[in-house]
Amino acid sequence: MLWSKLFIPTLREPPAEAEVVSHKLLLRAGYIRQVASGVYSHLFLSQRALLKISKIVREEMDAIGAQEMLLPALNPAELWQESGRWDVMGDDMFRLKDRWERDLCLAMTHEEVMTSIARGELRSYKQLPQIWYQIQTKFRDEMRPKSGLMRVRQFIMKDSYSFDLAPEGLDISYQKHYDAYCKIFSRCGLSYLAVQAHSGAMGGNESTEFMVASAAGEDFVAVCPECGYAANLEKAVSTAKPAALPDPEGNLVPEEFHTPGYKTIAEISGFTKLPETSQIKSLVMVVDGKPVLVLVRGDHQLSATKFSSVMQAREIRPAQPAEIREWFGAEAGSLGPIGVTNMTVIADSALEGRRNMIAGANKDDYHLRNVTPGRDFQTRFADLRQSEAGDTCRNCGKGILELKKTIEVGHIFKLGYKYSESMGLRVLNAAGEEVTPIMGCYGIGIERILSAAIEEHNDKDGMALPVSIAPFTVVVTPVNIADAAQKQAAQEIYDSCLALGLDALLDDRDERPGVKFKDADLIGIPYRITVGKKLTDGLVELVQRRGKTSSDVPVAEAALAVKKAASA
Ligand code: ATP
Ligand code: MG
Repeated sequence: MLWSKLFIPTLREPPAEAEVVSHKLLLRAGYIRQVASGVYSHLFLSQRALLKISKIVREEMDAIGAQEMLLPALNPAELWQESGRWDVMGDDMFRLKDRWERDLCLAMTHEEVMTSIARGELRSYKQLPQIWYQIQTKFRDEMRPKSGLMRVRQFIMKDSYSFDLAPEGLDISYQKHYDAYCKIFSRCGLSYLAVQAHSGAMGGNESTEFMVASAAGEDFVAVCPECGYAANLEKAVSTAKPAALPDPEGNLVPEEFHTPGYKTIAEISGFTKLPETSQIKSLVMVVDGKPVLVLVRGDHQLSATKFSSVMQAREIRPAQPAEIREWFGAEAGSLGPIGVTNMTVIADSALEGRRNMIAGANKDDYHLRNVTPGRDFQTRFADLRQSEAGDTCRNCGKGILELKKTIEVGHIFKLGYKYSESMGLRVLNAAGEEVTPIMGCYGIGIERILSAAIEEHNDKDGMALPVSIAPFTVVVTPVNIADAAQKQAAQEIYDSCLALGLDALLDDRDERPGVKFKDADLIGIPYRITVGKKLTDGLVELVQRRGKTSSDVPVAEAALAVKKAASA
């Protein structure tokens, strides 16, 4: 293609609204333009990159025997009511009414439609297993669209769904996806991490997220450098750093003391001159309408995800100050477990075995010392604490966990029977009995791959995309388009590139060479062949975008040299 004929609206200055690198570069390099918050138009370059990513995804999905379909974005409410998710999805779901006042939504994912197809058509175990997929547009009314294409309200997802007769079959379908995802992310040039994850709104019990380490990410992953254990922070389990007991020997009884104006863990710690590990932090949560008192060690944070799973809750929120006053007769800074009988009390496992701790007295401006869980109050213990950097890995018992900020590019789930059961998918087994197939679901964000690749591969001049997903592989740049010899040589090299099947671009613009080089660097074309003064010696310059290495090659060999380098 000829650059002079293309629409590539590059910008000189970084756009003010963008914070993360990929967002800045996507705008500056003329890949995307915003239409509304979290809604973007993909211009020519972005679309080319996304098509390349989709092609890789398609090839790897086809290779595991997955069958491509295309389902509608517009879904009737009834399907989502059957699975129970019409309510669960809340404000994240775009909802609308048709002219007959019937409720519809724009699908956020497609378990419902896929299961409805399966239940209408699959009759026998002989038809299983099935893997169905699509590359299709999803809609999610995200609370905070951000970071360019990373978190948007309309995006392209590859989603697939597996139907198997038995759990062993699901294990195979899941593993096939796991392996396919590894190939997809490697081919897209991403350094990824496969991590244990929480299953969230999808239901089911086992899931893996595919993460790319990046400062622009929104997720945290706990990683053990010793054994390779890696889990989303929401799910990670670990052993807390040891902490001395406030009074290790004494078998003391709780004793009230005045804490005027001291409310937070840090304030009480300063006042008592005891570390935060000596305190019991009391949090009041409202779980499906009922209050629950949650206890964690003073220096620890409650993991909302773990708490929600332990409680098997649909909806969780922190209690309001007025509710706390009504239930405890005290304000949030003076709460504790002793004497609490009107609600469930649940404590994090790190409090098990601790003695002589400090907790609120359920009386404004008073605390208790010498509080011992299990003796002074009864509670159930569970792992509710968010892991931290410096914790000990529970997988190997040796490693010290590190935290990494990451971008989630893909997620695979073992769904179990949630949708097949609730939506009535049944087949006959070999004995002629009706059985419920078991399902899995698997997602990849196509734009997320592009964003993550830009985050991973960029420098001060722009994107340094891998050949596999760059919109063009090579640009042929005559330094002076008015020079007939240069122009002709460039044209010939460009033709040879095309003949070799390279995705080539000819920069035939009448611009200064600096402008052309800058643009090519910005949009991230992996190779550039510069046709300049050395042409008189029969040489052109081959420049590699990554690392900016360059070498002189004979004109006749230039295209082949790119071909070799690009496929290395
Ligand atoms: P997140 O935690 O980032 O919101 P999710 O867990 O909601 O992601 P899934 O429902 O598992 O995501 O969707 C599968 C994939 O779709 C994700 O791994 C991600 O790559 C992509 N994706 C999800 N939400 C968005 C979004 N708002 N914008 C762009 N891509 C998204
Ligand atoms: Mg989400």
